[in-house]
Amino acid sequence: MQAVLDVGIVGAGPVGLCMAALLLRRGLDVAVFEKRAGAGSQSRAIGIHPPALAVLESIGAAVPLIGSGVQIRGGTAYSAGRKVGSLDFGLPGAEYPFILSVPQAVTLAVLEDRVAQLGSGVLHRGVEVLDSAPTDGGLLVRGRRADGAGPAEPFEARCRFLVAADGARSGLRAALGVTPAVRSYPDHYLMGDFHDGTPYGSEAVLFLEPPGIVECFPLPGGIRRWVVRIGSPDGEPSASGLAALIEERTGALVDPASNSMLSAFGVTSRLAPAMVHGRTVLIGDAAHELSPIGGQGMNLGWLDAAALAPLLERMVRAERGRTDPTLHTELAELERARLRAARKASRQAGINMALGRPMPPPVLRLRNAIVGRVVRRPAVAGFVARRFTMH
Ligand SMILES: Cc1cc2nc3c(=O)[nH]c(=O)nc-3n(C[C@H](O)[C@H](O)[C@H](O)COP(=O)(O)OP(=O)(O)OC[C@H]3O[C@@H](n4cnc5c(N)ncnc54)[C@H](O)[C@@H]3O)c2cc1C
Repeated sequence: MQAVLDVGIVGAGPVGLCMAALLLRRGLDVAVFEKRAGAGSQSRAIGIHPPALAVLESIGAAVPLIGSGVQIRGGTAYSAGRKVGSLDFGLPGAEYPFILSVPQAVTLAVLEDRVAQLGSGVLHRGVEVLDSAPTDGGLLVRGRRADGAGPAEPFEARCRFLVAADGARSGLRAALGVTPAVRSYPDHYLMGDFHDGTPYGSEAVLFLEPPGIVECFPLPGGIRRWVVRIGSPDGEPSASGLAALIEERTGALVDPASNSMLSAFGVTSRLAPAMVHGRTVLIGDAAHELSPIGGQGMNLGWLDAAALAPLLERMVRAERGRTDPTLHTELAELERARLRAARKASRQAGINMALGRPMPPPVLRLRNAIVGRVVRRPAVAGFVARRFTMH
């Protein structure tokens, strides 16, 4: 007879690992199943917002991440070489008056380390989960395990509850028959990390230019990430092509030879109609994939995990003997609140993308003048900063 886990988690991305650490802190018996054999080295998500830092602090991950990152305390927008406006991310009384910039690989390494410190043998790499089926008082999780050498072997585990944190193309979501609402946007972007030779220090900078926005953000190690909006994908991206676009639109010179990451992406959002499906809960990108513009997806997933952890603990303890009749109502409330948060973040990402679309120069000048005047008002600046920092 296989031991029954309290909670099985599918996916060792940032959201699955955070969920595991939160549940381990609460004394639950947890396992994480990850199909990849090794840790990822790609750098997608870099921005960690203040509410998410509070969650990371609760699992002991905030201090090492802050020690490895750059604190972005504000941002400035320019257009045609002139300053349009500035925004301070430090809200009055905020514990973390900044957005933290850390390469995703570092974030994953810190989270994996925390999980390993909180419980041994929790992360199972090389295990691809295919589906789950109800069993007596729980779920039978089915998949396959590959060690990279021989052929994959069937894999099974039993758990009371399953958390699907298996990303935007969630196989578990599909296996449950859940169809997300999909929206494609007309926006495409080129993104690259280069040696930072700019004078912007630890500031985020937006260039609002007629052919489309250019954004740049500091990363640790004297690196800056550049994101350029393009009309449509134009063949294979190249570091020299991106450097040329940056120079053309902003005048900034970046050295193509210093490029350490290059990516081209279009934008699709996917919102699951519900997160709770019997004993399985979808969180992170599996529940809501957002546009990367605005950098909220990973943060939103961590906030899902933080909201879900105390309820899962109570559900597990209720099944162990102490029943709690309010749990299902609370779970339904949690689902409504998290889907509301996802819709709000998706709208914010939509506004961010609209701000960066191409515009005829006279219209852009007028729009920028209005934006510049509006963000000079302290009340409006506070509101915009709260939206940008996910408060
Ligand atoms: C270019 C870009 C920039 C971004 N920048 C930011 C940013 O600055 N800030 C921000 O908050 N967000 C950002 N995002 C969004 C962010 O990357 C995602 O929201 C985040 O990675 C979602 O985390 P997740 O753990 O839910 O899913 P994922 O990161 O996709 O992780 C899912 C994990 O599940 C595993 N898996 C999948 N299927 C299975 C299976 N069947 N069995 C076992 N394992 C499985 C995968 O291998 C993977 O490790 C960005 C996204 C992009 C594309």
